[in-house]
Amino acid sequence: MSEQAVWDLIIIGGGASGMSAAISFQKMCLDRLGRYGRVLVLEKNDRVGKKILASGNGRCNLSNHDMALTHYHSHHVSWVESVFRLVDSESVLTFLSDIGIPITSEGNKIFPMSKSSASVVDAFRFAMKESEVALGSDFEAETIEKSDDIFHITGKDGRVFDGYHVIISCGGACAPNLGTTGDGYKWLARFGHKVYAPKPSIVQLVTDNSVTKALSGLKLDCDLSLNSKDMLLAHQYGEVLFTDYGLSGPAVLQVSGVVSRHNKKSGLTIPLTISLKLFNDEELRSIRAEIGRRISAWGERTLDQLLIGILPGKISSMLLKTALARPLSILIATLSNEDIETIVKTLKAWKFEVLGTKSLEFAQTTIGGAEVTEFSSETMESKLVPGLYACGEVLDVDGDCGGYNLTWAFASGILAGRSIALHSEDEHAQ
Ligand SMILES: Cc1cc2nc3c(=O)[nH]c(=O)nc-3n(C[C@H](O)[C@H](O)[C@H](O)COP(=O)(O)OP(=O)(O)OC[C@H]3O[C@@H](n4cnc5c(N)ncnc54)[C@H](O)[C@@H]3O)c2cc1C
Repeated sequence: MSEQAVWDLIIIGGGASGMSAAISFQKMCLDRLGRYGRVLVLEKNDRVGKKILASGNGRCNLSNHDMALTHYHSHHVSWVESVFRLVDSESVLTFLSDIGIPITSEGNKIFPMSKSSASVVDAFRFAMKESEVALGSDFEAETIEKSDDIFHITGKDGRVFDGYHVIISCGGACAPNLGTTGDGYKWLARFGHKVYAPKPSIVQLVTDNSVTKALSGLKLDCDLSLNSKDMLLAHQYGEVLFTDYGLSGPAVLQVSGVVSRHNKKSGLTIPLTISLKLFNDEELRSIRAEIGRRISAWGERTLDQLLIGILPGKISSMLLKTALARPLSILIATLSNEDIETIVKTLKAWKFEVLGTKSLEFAQTTIGGAEVTEFSSETMESKLVPGLYACGEVLDVDGDCGGYNLTWAFASGILAGRSIALHSEDEHAQ
C-alpha cells in the first residue's frame, strides 16, 4: 500500500457496503479492462467487518424474502426503490453466493448457510484479497479535501492518501463501539450535502418503568401495538422483554423507529403508548369465563392466585396490581363483574407510557444521514461533487429489523463500486 500513488478508488469504511463496493469495483474492472483496478479500503478498526460480526447475534441476518419497500424508511423512499431496481435483493444474493456465502432461510429471514457472521466476514476478506483490494486498517480518516480533481484523505495519524474517486461508506452513528461515530456526516456536510440528524432505530424503548423494573428479565409473546391516543401507529407480534428501563425484545425493536421519529431533544412530539395484547379474542373469552368459575369455586383464594395457570406468577401479580390498584391479599370472592371486565381489558391491552428510546449507542441502525436525492440513484455519485460517492447507512435510508439494513448496505455498495469501474475505464484507465 503506497501513500504516493493516486488510487483509482479509495473507500472509507470497511463494513458491509464498503467491502461490497471494493469487490464489485474489481469484478467490473476485470470484466471490462481485463485487469484489476487500484482500490484501497481504509478502515478505522484493526480489521474489517466488525459490525457484520455483531449482526444477527452473531448469525448475520443477511436479507429477507419479503422485500416490500414498506420495510425501508427515508425522506425519499422512491429513490431507494430506484437503487433496488438496478441492484435488487436477488442480485445481492448472487453476489454473496459468488464470494462464497450460500444462504439458508428461517421463515422470510435469510442467513448464511453457516449461520455464522464470522464466516461472512471471512468470505469478504478472502474475496478482497484475491481481487487485489488493498487494505489499510487502523487508519482513521479525519478529513477529505478535493483539489485538481483529486481527493486527499488525511488520517488522524497524519498519513495522506490520494484518489480519483472516493466512496464514503463509514456507516451511521449507532453502535459507536464498532467504529461508526458518524464521521461521514461531517465530511458530506462540508462538501455541501444536506444531512438529517441521526436518531436511533431498532433500539430498546424507555417507558414508565414502575411495572417493567419489577419484571426485569421476563419475556412474553404477545401482540404489541404502538398508539398515539386512539391512533394505531405500528403493530407487531413477537417477543417482548421487560427491563429495568422499559421494554425490549424483537417486537419492541421493530416498532422503535416510529418512536424515534416522534422524539425530539425536548421529548416526544405526541404522547405514545405501547399496548400489549397477551391473548387472542377467543382465549380472552374463555379466560373471562374461567375467572367467573374460579370466583365461584375458589372464592377463598387471594387475588395473586387468580390467574395461576394462565400467566406466569410474577407477571400475573403485576398485571392484577396495576389493573385493579388493590392489595394482592384480597379474596377473589370480593371481585365484582366490573373488576373482571377490568382484568380482561388489561389482558387485552396492557398499557405502558412511552418516554423515548435508548440512545444511538444501543441501536442497530441509524435514522437520518445524507439526503439521498443529492446522489444519483443510478451510480451513487454525489450530484454536488463529481467523483464523490456514498453508500450504506451513511445515507438517509434505514430498514426494519430482518436483514433489510445489510441488504441495503450490500446493494448500494455493489452499485457504487460497479459504477465507478465503468466510469474510471474512460477517465483513468491506462
Ligand atoms: C448489533 C447489531 C446487529 C445488527 N444485526 C443486523 C442483522 O442481523 N441484519 C441486518 O440487516 N442488519 C443488522 N444490523 C445493521 C447492519 O449491520 C448495518 O446497517 C450495516 O452493517 C451498515 O453497513 P455500512 O457499510 O453502511 O456500515 P458499517 O458496516 O457500520 O461499516 C462502516 C465502517 O466504517 C468504519 N469507519 C467509520 N468511520 C471511519 C473513519 N473515520 N475512518 C475509517 N473508517 C471508518 C467503521 O469502523 C466500520 O467498519 C445490525 C447492527 C448492529 C449494531
